[in-house]
Amino acid sequence: MNNLSKNYINGEWVNWSGPTLDVHEAGTGDVIAKVPASGRDEMEQAIAAADAAFADWSESSLDQRIKVLEQLHAGLKERAGEIAETVCREVGMPIKLATGIQAGLPATITKTYLKMLPDFPFSEQCGNSEVQYAPVGVVGCITPWNYPLHQVILKIVPAIAAGCTVVLKPAEIAPQSAYILAEILDGTDLPKGVFNLVSGEGQTVGDTLIKHPAVRMVSFTGSTRTGGLIAHAAADDFKRIALEMGGKSASVILPDADLAAAVKGTVNNCLLNSGQTCTALTRMLVPADRHDEACELATAAVARMTPGNPLEATTRLGPLASAQQRDKVIDYIKLGIEEGHTLVAGGPEAPEGCDKGYFVKATVFGNVKPGSRLEQEEIFGPVLCVIPYQDEADAIRIANGTQYGLSGAVWSADADRAKKVASKLRTGQVFVNGGDFNPLAPFGGFGHSGIGREFGKWGLEEFLEVRSLQL
Ligand code: ADP
Repeated sequence: MNNLSKNYINGEWVNWSGPTLDVHEAGTGDVIAKVPASGRDEMEQAIAAADAAFADWSESSLDQRIKVLEQLHAGLKERAGEIAETVCREVGMPIKLATGIQAGLPATITKTYLKMLPDFPFSEQCGNSEVQYAPVGVVGCITPWNYPLHQVILKIVPAIAAGCTVVLKPAEIAPQSAYILAEILDGTDLPKGVFNLVSGEGQTVGDTLIKHPAVRMVSFTGSTRTGGLIAHAAADDFKRIALEMGGKSASVILPDADLAAAVKGTVNNCLLNSGQTCTALTRMLVPADRHDEACELATAAVARMTPGNPLEATTRLGPLASAQQRDKVIDYIKLGIEEGHTLVAGGPEAPEGCDKGYFVKATVFGNVKPGSRLEQEEIFGPVLCVIPYQDEADAIRIANGTQYGLSGAVWSADADRAKKVASKLRTGQVFVNGGDFNPLAPFGGFGHSGIGREFGKWGLEEFLEVRSLQL
């Protein structure tokens, strides 16, 4: 990457000589890169470029869009090794997982849109009307650090496919994969101005992006707090918004479930990316009479998660992405102890042999009380709450008892019963008996977890306005 000191505006790498943001290696704390802390002027230039490019790109042919996305897909494949290592260093996800998820998923998602586009109905007949689906306009994309390229791809691929133009502001903590993406797009036939990248802080360049009148939609993934600011800003200007925010997802283990398999599946999901996953199953609901057994199984599963340098193949639990995130998670572990939940595994000290970098022990609390802060608030770290319930209705009530609703799981020997319970969860997706992740299925939240959906046709529709011609 040669362009980390620049912004990508109107098809050019534009030098920046102002202040910079340090990018740290999660496993060591060392500064590994510096990127622009750009000013509002740079963001305004990027928005102007996207605005100027919209007239032509919104009229581009489907073949033109498909060709660019094929070139992007090839570039993502070609640079997959570099993407995996970059994100592994920035975020702390172990390299094997980073290769499959952080580098692999962006290529997979791009491919799903390539497959869908030729048959996507950009117009349809309705009685005497032709209903047309038109690109929404300039889109501001604001992304977080936990799956830094994946979340960018989920926005810019359908946006570009829809005929929108884009300004991306990547996360401060993990911006480098967005630069790789910009370099790949720079080598494609995408016309200048359709994609722009401005690096900087949320309160400055992010703020300009969400408030600018030329931006007709903001697609955001990140904290519920920032999502709220975006919703307020959008209301003033009637911008469209797609928000994907926090979660406190429940894994409901029914009494007839294979407890060992369900606990293992829940722990693995909870600890993925050291718990820095918005869909993480962080609340494990177990029948009260099997609580202790479930805690023992969870402790054994956590013990298998060897912590260490994420670049090493044997590491199963990497560090957190930043010192700030580590401190926040440690504070939550201390809070869990103060609130009187049972500390079953882990604790607030760093794991042995992990003195450098941003490590936190995989931690399990038992007998967690519904309604407590530990049970209600998103921690975004490797912390599992085990919650005993009395009966199925109690389990559903507890599962639905937070302001969030992003993901969930249900486990039962009876597939129909599992599906019935899953259908009562107020959440955007539910994994039934460990069902596979599906990159074509809609993804998004109920309540404070979000507005709108990503992935598949639902992700594309977010970027389309509807026009009907009465003929
Ligand atoms: P996280 O806690 O995951 O970092 P944030 O919501 O703080 O979540 O950050 C997600 C993205 O939102 C980042 O790119 C960040 O720079 C951006 N952001 C933060 N504050 C604002 C803001 N006031 N306006 C626009 N974007 C913001």
